[in-house]
This record gives sequence, structure tokens and C-alpha cells, in this order.
Amino acid sequence: CGIVGYVGGQSALDVVVAGLKRLEYRGYDSAGVAVLADGGLAAAKKAGKLVNLEKELVDRPLAAGTVGIGHTRWATHGGPTDANAHPHLDNAGRVAVVHNGIIENFAALREELAERGHTLLSETDTEVVAHLLAEEFSSVGDLAEAMRLVCRRLDGAFTLVAVHADQPDVVVGARRNSPLVVGVGEGENFLASDVSAFIAHTRSAIELGQDQVVELSRDGVTVTDFDGAPADVRAFHVDWDA
Ligand code: GLU
Repeated sequence: CGIVGYVGGQSALDVVVAGLKRLEYRGYDSAGVAVLADGGLAAAKKAGKLVNLEKELVDRPLAAGTVGIGHTRWATHGGPTDANAHPHLDNAGRVAVVHNGIIENFAALREELAERGHTLLSETDTEVVAHLLAEEFSSVGDLAEAMRLVCRRLDGAFTLVAVHADQPDVVVGARRNSPLVVGVGEGENFLASDVSAFIAHTRSAIELGQDQVVELSRDGVTVTDFDGAPADVRAFHVDWDA
């Protein structure tokens, strides 16, 4: 129900968890985070309130990193369990994705992935996206391009945000029928379903349009449509108290 992404110089975990707290008002049943660190990907996710996730992060601390994503879930497909909480990872544990919305054609995609030897570990509609991103990334070597290719195969409503351990300096997001906003900082950038998640860091924002993919690095924001053509975006200043 809420999404946060971060790339910059601060502890991604601190920024992401604080952002998720600002989104708590939206309601949720589970929460999770993933951070890129030490050439790999570290993730934690828990059913229940954010305090459960925070306790998990104390009991089993993640490696520190400056690129990360987080999610609060309002379950639509699969009950509110730890396994169904986001992020979802591919079988190699190299890609992590969070999702708000519903992937309508997930059943056909699950079947297709199972036939190709993927093992799906949750009951969610979301998990297929992690596996598809891993497959596309292995052929194109670029997460934004992999996201565009995957989005073209998805039906439904989605905000997706993903990271890949083999491209550890970027966070990629996509949206269709579901909100996603970029927070533009200095040497750091943010992604969130709502500006309130990053308002403590920057008031400079970009609202993504329908069927767009965004790639965030520390110093850049690139937006395209699902075919890779440069896209028009709406930049605005958040001058209210979110
Ligand atoms: N459909 C996804 C799930 O059930 C995402 C739900 C959400 O928007 O939080 O896991």
C-alpha cells in the first residue's frame, strides 16, 4: 500500500523505514525492505506492523548500504504472512521488487515461469515480476530496460520499484494506474507512492505519468515510456505540509 525507494549517500535502511512510517496512515498488513550492500542484496520482511519489521532488523541486522527499497502491503493475493510480504526476490536472490496494485495475468505468468524452472515461494501476484526481471536482466544487462520489457507483459494496475545486485547504483520504478512520485535531492533521489515519504529530505518532486519507467541514480533521473522513448513528466514543488 506504500512504497519507498532511495539512492544516495545516507543509510538506505534509515531513509526507507522512516519513509514507510510516514505512509503508515494508508493502512497495511505487512512490511519489508531490501538493501544493496557488499555486492549482494539483503532483505527483511514481516507480517504485521512496522514495529515487527524493526524488531526483525534489530535481531538480524542487514548489511549497511545506500541503495534500498521498502514496502507496506495491503494483501490482495495471498494472506498477510511473512512469505507473502514484499520485497519478492528471484531464485538467485539478485533482484528485489515491491509492488502496489494487482497483476491481473499473474496466474498465466506463474505457470510459464514454473515451466522454465523457476520456483515461486509466495502466493502473491507480485512474485512473478521478480522472476521476469531476473530473466530479462540476464539478456539485456540493464534494469530499466528489463523493467520496460516486463511491464509490457503485465495487465492490471501497478506501481513497481526494483533493485538488482548486478547494477547496484540504480533504483528503477514503473507505474500504470497507480501513483509514483520522484523526490529530487542533491546527490540523492527518492521514489515513493506519496510525497510525504520524502518530504523531510526534499520538496522538489516529479510526478510520473501513466505507463512510464523511471531510473534513479544518485545524480540522475531518467523517465521513459514502456517502449523506451523519453517521456514528458510534471515537475512540481511541494509547498504544503504533507
Ligand atoms: N497485490 C499485491 C499483493 O497482494 C500488492 C498489494 C499492495 O498493493 O500492497 O501482495
